[in-house]
Amino acid sequence: MSGNIIDGKAVAAQINAETAEAVLALKNKGKETALAVILVGSDPASQVYVRNKVRTCGELGIRSIKRELPETATTEEVLAAEEEFNRDPAVDGILVQSPPPPQVDEAKVIEAIDPDKDVDCFTERNVGRILIGDNPVLKPCTPWGVLELLRRSGVDPAGKHAVIIGRSNIVGKPLAAMLMQKAAGANATVTIVHSATKDIAKYTREADILIAAIGRAGFVTGDMIKPGAVVIDVGINRVFDEKLGKNRLTGDVVFEEAVEKAAAVTPVPGGVGPMTIAMLMRNTVEASKFFYGRRRGK
Ligand code: NAP
Repeated sequence: MSGNIIDGKAVAAQINAETAEAVLALKNKGKETALAVILVGSDPASQVYVRNKVRTCGELGIRSIKRELPETATTEEVLAAEEEFNRDPAVDGILVQSPPPPQVDEAKVIEAIDPDKDVDCFTERNVGRILIGDNPVLKPCTPWGVLELLRRSGVDPAGKHAVIIGRSNIVGKPLAAMLMQKAAGANATVTIVHSATKDIAKYTREADILIAAIGRAGFVTGDMIKPGAVVIDVGINRVFDEKLGKNRLTGDVVFEEAVEKAAAVTPVPGGVGPMTIAMLMRNTVEASKFFYGRRRGK
């Protein structure tokens, strides 16, 4: 943390260093770690995300296998690629970059991933485990990234009121489940607000930890933040910057106002974003450890 800004890039780098060590330790025992990434179509943002994942794999010693399917690919073709990776003992993690083109049944292709290789933690079994809280091997990357950012910045959610704006299946809901667990690094009182909530600011002003996961640039203004709160901005929005004359990335929080009010705040970019990919890599090595243990009958 520098001043009251939480440096997600630095925390992610620390986690990645630990992951690289774990990958190496497995390699020294004869177990390579591999992630298979399925990219369907040519959505430019998805291509950037996949490129970043493949690059980070390379940096951490994880083998990446990129399978590109055409824009016209059918659900069955995606399922066939997944089945191949499900059966391949050399593959530890599998993900299908979201969103696939509309003709692909996303729910069906997610559910077809072997839950032990589901490093995005999107399958019903793995989501269920998060709700039950039985210390699962794989955890959803963005929510886990938020918890790790808090933990490694010295913020203990126990007994605090965490307010989450957004109830999506990939951020808001699993994050609420993880923050409310009766466990170290959690134990918060959690409120979720969304588009049907009346007077959102009434809730956000009560938040000791405020998490914005909405997808609306500048939604959270300074007057919505309790003085001394910790503000985590998950949002990634592309806005046109008049001064720069081009698009730039910005969060759901008006950063300049939040730094004035909050005890700590994450920037965008450089906050939650790098954590998500770091936790994906962590999940991949956790899956690899699991398969190594299973091979040895443990
Ligand atoms: P999503 O599926 O679109 O969900 C957005 C949530 O925000 C929904 O629950 C929606 O409410 C709520 N919402 C939208 N407009 C609102 C409003 N005016 N007032 C109150 N609530 C409102 O989005 P997501 O996938 O969760 O992603 C949210 C943001 O986080 C996006 O900017 C995304 O790019 C970013 N993101 C970042 C990372 C990262 O690594 N940093 C990872 C994932 C997502 P309803 O449910 O009522 O519609």
